[in-house]
Order: sequence, then structure tokens, then C-alpha cells
Amino acid sequence: MKKIQMVDLKGQYEAIKEIVNASVIDVIESTAFINGPKVHEFQKNLENYLGVKHVIPCANGTDALQIAMMGLGLKPGDEVITSDFTFAATVEVIALLGLTPVLVDVEPDTFNIDIEAIKKAITPNTKAIVPVHLFGQCANMDAIMEIANTHNLFVIEDNAQAIGATYTSSNGSKQKAGTIGHVASTSFFPSKNLGCYGDGGAIFTNDDDLAHMIRGIVNHGMYRRYYHDVVGVNSRLDSIQATILNTKLQHLDTYNKVRQNAARKYNEAFKNEENIITPFINESQSTHVFHQYTLKVKNVDRDALAQFLNDNEIPCGVYYPVPLHLQEAYKNSRHNEDDFAVTNQLIKEVISLPMHTELDDEQIAFITSKVIEFVNG
Ligand SMILES: *Cc1c(COP(=O)(O)O)cnc(C)c1O
Repeated sequence: MKKIQMVDLKGQYEAIKEIVNASVIDVIESTAFINGPKVHEFQKNLENYLGVKHVIPCANGTDALQIAMMGLGLKPGDEVITSDFTFAATVEVIALLGLTPVLVDVEPDTFNIDIEAIKKAITPNTKAIVPVHLFGQCANMDAIMEIANTHNLFVIEDNAQAIGATYTSSNGSKQKAGTIGHVASTSFFPSKNLGCYGDGGAIFTNDDDLAHMIRGIVNHGMYRRYYHDVVGVNSRLDSIQATILNTKLQHLDTYNKVRQNAARKYNEAFKNEENIITPFINESQSTHVFHQYTLKVKNVDRDALAQFLNDNEIPCGVYYPVPLHLQEAYKNSRHNEDDFAVTNQLIKEVISLPMHTELDDEQIAFITSKVIEFVNG
């Protein structure tokens, strides 16, 4: 059996190696390293793929979130509601901009932001909601957009984990994840579903004025050369990453299908295990592109299971082991422990198994047999 990896980037690279290597050499030969034609080409390709009017490439997914918030003109003191159960980048940029992060609980089945908890957290200072499409499945965007319309709030989708997922509204219309809110961010970190070979990110929006604003912000607040109308940042996707992403974008739907297939095989193996809860897919609402394949385990010591898997050379991950409201950097007296019952439970039960495009049946059989052996042991 091939050695099992949490994310196998090598196997995926081997399959596109000739094209990728040639395209990288082309960029080097062209010396158009920054803002070259490849970046523009990728921007257009991603706009077409997503069905969104504007894609603004930038340096990474954390910058993308920050720049989206800067573009919306959020000001210190504005409250931004987001999920307690996500990667820290989401709350980090809110705090960095001097905005007030308001963390709320998630749904126990999808792990996405809880609608009632959002409603409860709204105050006259609330300005935005940041749903995170966690592990590859969209949050309940119909309900979130309705709350936003009622209270005049911005919605910033953190789409770092769900690129390529499709959301179905209650009226039946289908949209790609990251094209529903006022603005969205994504990451091309190598292990993401659409990963480059370094750092990268992008902002999406259908709003022409906001897109214009953001194009200036990513470039030092410049709308005319050497005239700085707003305080900006320097955040660029470089041409080498863009040319790699152009190749990989053509395979994104296939990559996501391969992930879904692996998830189906995991589910099948676990279907009779009452202490292993496989990922819930709210199919009428969103496809799931399995950035992570995350189980909840019951009546078993999750950390001991993780150790057992590691002892058997099966990598696994706990995303996330500490809720954001308990992190030293983000503790805040406004947060009430009783409001985080779901997250506080999830952090003890979740475990993510290897998930990537190169998993084979033999590996899945070995992984699932070891999980079942421990859970029933
Ligand atoms: C990866 C990730 C980010 C940050 O992306 P980087 O490119 O690493 O900056 C933000 N939010 C979520 C939910 C992520 O998973």
C-alpha cells in the first residue's frame, strides 16, 4: 500500500506535470512575474467558472478577507458576526481592522454558522456577517441573506474551503459558493481544493463599485499611478501561481468529484457504526466538496483514536481543537459560555480523515478498518 498522507499533492502534480512545468518556464521566460497576462487570464477564467462579475486576485486567503472588509468601509467599533468554529484567519482580520468580532455557535450537523445564534447576536452596531462554508459545504445562505436584508448588513462569504460547491436557493436557483453574498474571499493555499504551489487568494463580488474599490486597495490604494486615494495594502497573486491555477482550475470539478467519491466510500464503510457519525450533507441546499472529511465520534476518547491512527501511520487532523471564543487572543467578556454548547461539544468529537484526490480503495479500506477497530475496541 502507498504511504497514506493527509493531503497528497505529489500524485496530483504528477498527472499535470508536463503542462505545469512548461507553463512555469513560459512565465519565467516572459519575466512578467507581477501583474502579468497570466494573472489576468486566471481572473477571467475564474469569473467564468464561478459566474461572478469580478474576481480580484490577491496574495492569500487571509488578505482576501481583510481586503473585502476594508472595501466595504467597515470602521472600528463595527460588530462583525462570525462562526466560533473555524480557522482563526476569519476572526483575526476582524480584530486586526479594529472591528469587534462577535462569535456565535454553529449547527451540530453541518458545522456551519447557526441562524438563530446570528439573530440573537445582532445589535445596533452590527455591520456584517461572515459565514464560513466549512469543510466544503455552504452555510444556509438564504437565511443569512434574509437577515442581512432585514438589518441592512453586509455578508462576506469565507469561501476558502468550498470553492466549486453549488448552492441551491429555496426558489431553486443555483449559484456557486462565494457568489451569493456581497463579497467573498477564497484561498489557494496548496492544500485547498483549488491550491497553487505557494500562497494565493482572491476576492469575488458582483458589485462594480466595490470591485473598483478593492482593485485599488490591493495595490496601495492607487486608482491612478502614484495617487493614493485610500489606505491600501500590497497583496498580489504572482504570475507563476496564476499559470499553475489556470491549469488546475480546468480540473477543479474533477478533483471535487474524486473527493466526493472518496467520501462516499468512507460513508459506506461506516454506515453500520452507531458511534461514528459521518458528515451530514444538506443536499437540497448545497453540494459538499469535502475540503475535509470530518467524523464525529461518540463514546470514545477522540484523542486516543487520533493517537491510534497515527501509530498505524494514518495521518488525521482535529479541526478545530479549541473554539475561537476560548483562544487567548479572542476572549471577550461579551461571549457567554452557555451560548457555545455545540462548538464546545464538537471540539471533543471531531476528527478529520485523509482527504485528497489521490486516495485509493486500499488506503480507504485500511483507514476505515482501523477507525472501526478502535471505536469498537
Ligand atoms: C485557509 C483558510 C483561510 C486563510 O487562507 P490563507 O490563504 O492561508 O491565508 C481563511 N479562512 C478559512 C476558513 C480557511 O480555511
